[in-house]
Order: sequence, then structure tokens, then C-alpha cells
Amino acid sequence: MIKITALGTNGWFDTQTGSTTCMMVQTDSYTLILDAGYGIAKIKQLVDFSKPAYLFLSHLHLDHVIGLHTLDYFGFEHPLTLVAPLGGKKDLLDLLRPPFTTNWERIPYKVNILEAEELDSFGFPFGVKALPLVHVVPDTGYRFEIEGKSIVYLLDTGYCENAVTLAKDADFVITESGFLPGEIDEGWPHMNPESAARLAVAANAKQMLLIHFGAALYDTIAKRQQAVDTGRKIYPNLIMGLDNMEFIL
Ligand SMILES: [Zn+2]
Ligand SMILES: [Zn+2]
Repeated sequence: MIKITALGTNGWFDTQTGSTTCMMVQTDSYTLILDAGYGIAKIKQLVDFSKPAYLFLSHLHLDHVIGLHTLDYFGFEHPLTLVAPLGGKKDLLDLLRPPFTTNWERIPYKVNILEAEELDSFGFPFGVKALPLVHVVPDTGYRFEIEGKSIVYLLDTGYCENAVTLAKDADFVITESGFLPGEIDEGWPHMNPESAARLAVAANAKQMLLIHFGAALYDTIAKRQQAVDTGRKIYPNLIMGLDNMEFIL
């Protein structure tokens, strides 16, 4: 059984609509954590720390890594594998030290830091493929093959061919709606609900979950609902993400 939990569905900053970006995928044998916005603090109550855990980062914007400041709050009993985005390991190491946060080498459990280039050689207990996406900084999308299901994580990105490639025929695609319906900014690429829906259609995805609703634009849940309703005219299996939602695959 695979259980997916939305821990943080806001983009940019935390508000009453949710925490910043974090998703969790749990199986009987291990836990995947996708991005480390402040939503990651919720794993304290939800994760079985006796199982191995793997944390994948899409990119290093603070709304996706700020929760790394809470790593020493957790009690992982195995080494935590932390995957930096493509080309991002050096910058990640620059962040994981004083005066920004605790030195990662002094966290009370071992942390192994990899870069997404090194995935093939690591030997994960699941399949994983990484491709660069289109954002204002280097950004990595991931496709996971877990117990016969494909789960794809595409944060933050504009519409691009690599996103379609990763999402091809996927069982569950998690992507973003940083922008409102109809909104585009070529200089700061994000998805809006229509472009996310078009991506799902192009990729023939089975379901798509929208998260990372830009906090300033989506100040109410009603605005999320309106956006998802707009996207559903293009792709009916679009799901509105909310913090603490759970999905069983
Ligand atoms: Zn973001
Ligand atoms: Zn970003």
C-alpha cells in the first residue's frame, strides 16, 4: 500500500490556507519526503522513524527548503538520504550550516547528501528518474516507481517537455499552481491551473494533484477551488490540494 500525505500546499509563505511545500509518500518499508517547506515539521507525529527515509528537493528556493531548519527535531533511526536538485549540492551545503541553521554533520542522526545526478548509483529501494524543469533557478522534477505505481513530482516549473516526459502515463502527478487562472510570467516560470491541466492531458496522467498555490494570490481556499474548477474543464481528474489530505494508491 502507498499512502501520500500533503503536509504543505502553499507556495511562497505559510498562511491560514496552509504550510509551505512538503509531500510525504509512505510504504510499508520506507518513507519519501518531497521538498522541505515548513510542512515537513508535521512528520514528527506521522512518520515511523524506524523506517529508512529519503528526502528529495526540487530546488533551493526557501519555501522548499526552509523546513530543513527543523531536521534536528526528528528522530530518524536510519541515515536520512537527502537529495539535492541537479547542480544544487554545493549551494545546499552552503545553507546547511551556521549561522543559517545547525551544521548538518551535527544533527543527531546521519544525513547522506547526494545530488540528483548520482541517483542511478545509489541503490534506492524504488525506481527514480530526475530531469531538469523550467524555473528561475535550477530545478529538478522526479518520477518514482513504487510497488508498480508511478508518482511524479513537478515543483516549481513552467510547462515544459521534460515535465510531460516525466508524467507520461503516470498514476499520480503532483504539480503546482503558483499562478492564478490565465496568469503567465515568462520571467518567473510557474504553472497556472490550465497549463497544469494541459500537461496532464499531454502526458495521459491518471490523476493530478495541484499544490503550491501562491500564498499572496490564493489567500482563501475558495480561490483554490475556483482555479481547480477552471483546470477541470481541460482535465477532469484534477484534485485540489489541501494540507493534511491523504491519498491511498
Ligand atoms: Zn515555490
Ligand atoms: Zn521556486
